[in-house]
Order: sequence, then C-alpha cells, then structure tokens
Amino acid sequence: MRTVSCKTYAKINLTLDVRGKNDDGYHEVEMVMQSVSLHDDLTVRLDTRGRCADSIRIRCNLPYVPRDERNTAYKAALLFFEQTGIENTGLFIDIVKRVPVAAGLAGGSANAAGVLHCLNRLCGRPLGRRELAELALRVGADVPFCLTGGTCVASGIGERLTPAPPMPRCHILIAKPPKSVKTREIYEAIDRCEIVRRPDTAAMLAALKSSDAAQVAQQCCNVMEEVTSARVPEILELERTFLRHGALCAVMSGSGPSVFGIFTDFEAAARARDEVKRRMRRTLCFLERPVQKFSPMG
Ligand code: ATP
Repeated sequence: MRTVSCKTYAKINLTLDVRGKNDDGYHEVEMVMQSVSLHDDLTVRLDTRGRCADSIRIRCNLPYVPRDERNTAYKAALLFFEQTGIENTGLFIDIVKRVPVAAGLAGGSANAAGVLHCLNRLCGRPLGRRELAELALRVGADVPFCLTGGTCVASGIGERLTPAPPMPRCHILIAKPPKSVKTREIYEAIDRCEIVRRPDTAAMLAALKSSDAAQVAQQCCNVMEEVTSARVPEILELERTFLRHGALCAVMSGSGPSVFGIFTDFEAAARARDEVKRRMRRTLCFLERPVQKFSPMG
C-alpha cells in the first residue's frame, strides 16, 4: 500500500458576481475566493499488489455523502486514471468531513482537488500544473481554485484564476443553517431577478492590498444572497447576530446557505459563535481564519 494524505480546505466567496451565460449555457462569474482553515482530512491509498484492480472504494464519516461515481472524489480519480493511462491497481479514498455538505463552501470540490493532488504524488507526478487544472475543471467549476487555494480572483465559469493580495489577519466565523439549497436552482432564479447591488472587484483588490480587514469587509458582496435568503430566512438572522457582536461584515458564501462574518476581535467572534450555538441549535458554526500558504500541488 502506498498512502498520501492532505487537508482539503473550504473556501468562502469574499465577492460573487454573476455576469450572464456563455454559449454553452454555463454562468459567467467573477468572484474573489478565499481559502479558510475549516477542512476535511483526505487519505488516498493505492494497493500496489493489485488485489482490487480497477476498484475505487470510498469511506466517509457522513453516511449521506454518496460513495460511488456521484462523489466528486470518485470522479476525480476516474479522470486521473483515464487521462494518464496509469493502471488503477486498487484505490481507497478515506474522507473525514468537517466542511458542511451542500453549503456554498466547496467541500466536495476541495475533496476532488485533494484526490488529484494525492494521486499525482502517488504516481510520481505524471501531470503538470496545467494538466491538473484542466482535469480539475472537468470535475467542477470550483475545483481549479481548490487546487491552488489562498486568495484568487476567479472568472469565466470559475476556472480563470488570478492570484490576489492575501487576506489580512482576521477571524472568520462561518455558520451553516440546517436547510440546504440546490446550486442549480439558485442560478436559475438569479437569471430571473434584477440585481440591485454588485461587488466591485477592483475595489476589493485595492482593499486586500491595503491589508485592512475593515476595508475588505466593506467590499464583501454576493449577488446570490437575496435569492437564497428568500428560501432560507436563517441567513438574515445569522447575519444580524454576527453584526450585533461586532462583525465587520456578514455575507453569504457561494450559492449558500452558509454565512461568514469577518472579525478582528477573537472574543467578539467567540461570543457570536456561542450565541448561535445556544439559540440556533441545528446550525453548524465554526470559528476559523484565512489560509494563505496553501498549495496542495506543492
Ligand atoms: P460548491 O460550493 O462547489 O457548490 P457545496 O459546498 O455547496 O459546493 P458540496 O458540499 O460539494 O456543495 O455538496 C454538493 C452535493 O454533492 C451534495 O449533494 C453531496 O451529496 C454531493 N457530493 C458528492 N461528492 C461529495 C463530497 N466528496 N463531499 C461532499 N459532498 C459531495
């Protein structure tokens, strides 16, 4: 058995703008993405004795996460073997999930990126950065970012990545209400609504460059928030709670329904977390920080 492990980090959207649809019907976006310390633990094992040749077995601590070809980690592994022509002598993937599922935090995308990274290492790095990023995009639009991590502007359908100045030191409180939403439904709904406030990517980049958390917070904006919060009212309740405890901003991530708040004061963030845990018992809540020096591709 040969084994490689890695952490697969969640992301938040400091900004998210939907610019329209491309010719293939995919939504064109522009977003500033940030890796956060909330992560799953991923272990990838290759059976070198070939006793389970061609099999991909997945173990996950959450029983409702699919373990077959619907799993992003499975898809990534299958594509890797197809693309490289390397024989699958029997693959075992173990995922310990902490990142909430269907939450707007790209947990599944991060697992897929982790599998590509680990398999590439296990097999002597047959794929370069570019090839890995191309494979990543075939699994999902957020997977290329998850391979790179840190702070990036993502455009196109999410695959065009430009590194951005790192996020200033701060505390990030993330909460996931019990209800989930379907990403596709939110995109469809956004096509039908008029967007009132859009993020300003240039202003966000200037704010990041200033290294001032308050300026960054001021520019956080997600055009999907109105649509998702109409379906999940807890989003607004969480935002009010975060702001009452001194968050510099409280905004939804991705298509939701997770909400994040930026704090400079750890004690204030911890008080907000404690209130959420006390009053909204089924809401998951994590006190995290931005992750910068992260590149699973090494
Ligand atoms: P994104 O922000 O990329 O839309 P998300 O955080 O909203 O991602 P995921 O956690 O990736 O959503 O889950 C979306 C769906 O994918 C769920 O219905 C889940 O069952 C399924 N899924 C497939 N593979 C995985 C995986 N490895 N981890 C979590 N969910 C997975």
